[in-house]
Amino acid sequence: MAGVVIVGAGQAAASLAAKLRISGYDAAITILGEEPIAPYQRPPLSKAYLLGQMPLERLLLRSPEFWAEQRIELRLGARVEAIDRAARAVRFGGETVPYDNLVLATGAAPRRLSASIGGELSGVHVVRNLANIDAIAPALQHDARLVVVGGGYIGLEAAAVARKLGLSVVLVEATPRILGRVASAETADAIRALHVAHGVSIIEGVGITRIAGQGSVHSVELADGRSLPADLVIVGIGVSPETGLAEAAGLAIDNGIAVDTRGRTSDPFIWAAGDCASFPYAGGRLRLESVGNAIDMAECVATNILDAGRAYVPKPWFWSDQYDMKLQIAGLSAGYDHIITRRAEGYSVWYFRGESLLAVDALNDARAYMVGKRLIESGRSPAAQAVADPATDLKALL
Ligand SMILES: Cc1cc2nc3c(=O)[nH]c(=O)nc-3n(C[C@H](O)[C@H](O)[C@H](O)COP(=O)(O)OP(=O)(O)OC[C@H]3O[C@@H](n4cnc5c(N)ncnc54)[C@H](O)[C@@H]3O)c2cc1C
Repeated sequence: MAGVVIVGAGQAAASLAAKLRISGYDAAITILGEEPIAPYQRPPLSKAYLLGQMPLERLLLRSPEFWAEQRIELRLGARVEAIDRAARAVRFGGETVPYDNLVLATGAAPRRLSASIGGELSGVHVVRNLANIDAIAPALQHDARLVVVGGGYIGLEAAAVARKLGLSVVLVEATPRILGRVASAETADAIRALHVAHGVSIIEGVGITRIAGQGSVHSVELADGRSLPADLVIVGIGVSPETGLAEAAGLAIDNGIAVDTRGRTSDPFIWAAGDCASFPYAGGRLRLESVGNAIDMAECVATNILDAGRAYVPKPWFWSDQYDMKLQIAGLSAGYDHIITRRAEGYSVWYFRGESLLAVDALNDARAYMVGKRLIESGRSPAAQAVADPATDLKALL
């Protein structure tokens, strides 16, 4: 019996395999993962693990015994090279592995700067996997000069860790402001202020023209003519979904591997979940890059492999840790037309379209996050004045 074969050994793969077993699936489950390590959590890579405050074992999503106990075969260091849809098999390293159902959980790859502008010099890093961190960690030396390219969550988290370790840090964002793609100006203002207070120099609205150096990085040159001396550079300019295998196999692609509401690709025997997959949402398509989405979508696909016929309905949530600030986000802010800010226990930014609450960014405010999340998930919207009034007991809004 060929069973379920999962390509990629990350968050979605681990959740999917476990859910299949819990749900009573008894046939073979095989996970083929390119990295040499069992499935692990990525969020600490730019937080506690990068800071050296988390041992490797705690990154692992499951104990080593779990896989054997659950009869889930982990094949690591196995980069799948092709899908043979006619034969219902995948190929890697001269081996052919047949499947009844195939799941693509290949994640996303960090965008890199091209070699022509110095993107391949030694000392230029991305932050996606353990190997990346193993390359960066030795360079995070007190007094070293770090330039972070990109003011999204990964770049900001790396900047916070580097400041804690005593590096001098300049963060360069090409668009007019940090977090432009994912958060309001109000949230970005609060986070910028936090970084500036910790000594990070933030340059917004200026792109880089090249990374200079002979063999290894020496400086970062900006479009306005400035040159920033650098011992290392961390590039955090977003990711692209890993669609190569699916594309070569002729599956439909649309900002990721396109799946239907149940997680099935354009081939009825192939499914996809996590960062690599885009699913129907609000009349269009959505692809999310978060742990919550990877887990929920993978579990939904597992039940659908067992014929549950369940539509995937995302309940988006996200978090980021920078210094002593915990940012928690519920919902999706895209399409908002106004925001309400609230200063009470912490600070929170509430995104509305008309009278509908879409999302909440909660900075050191667990209650605003919890209440906002419950409201959004149940389709209810609070009155804007009630949210803005710090005297309002948020729990009463539920
Ligand atoms: C530094 C960092 C910090 C993050 N912080 C947060 C956070 O605070 N909160 C949050 O919600 N999310 C965070 N995320 C995002 C979150 O980690 C991802 O959304 C999640 O890991 C997606 O899971 P996945 O299984 O889809 O992909 P991944 O976990 O990326 O796993 C995909 C795996 O597939 C492998 N693979 C790809 N192609 C092949 C192939 N052909 N053959 C075999 N294997 C292959 C890859 O090597 C990889 O190991 C962070 C991500 C990073 C990198």
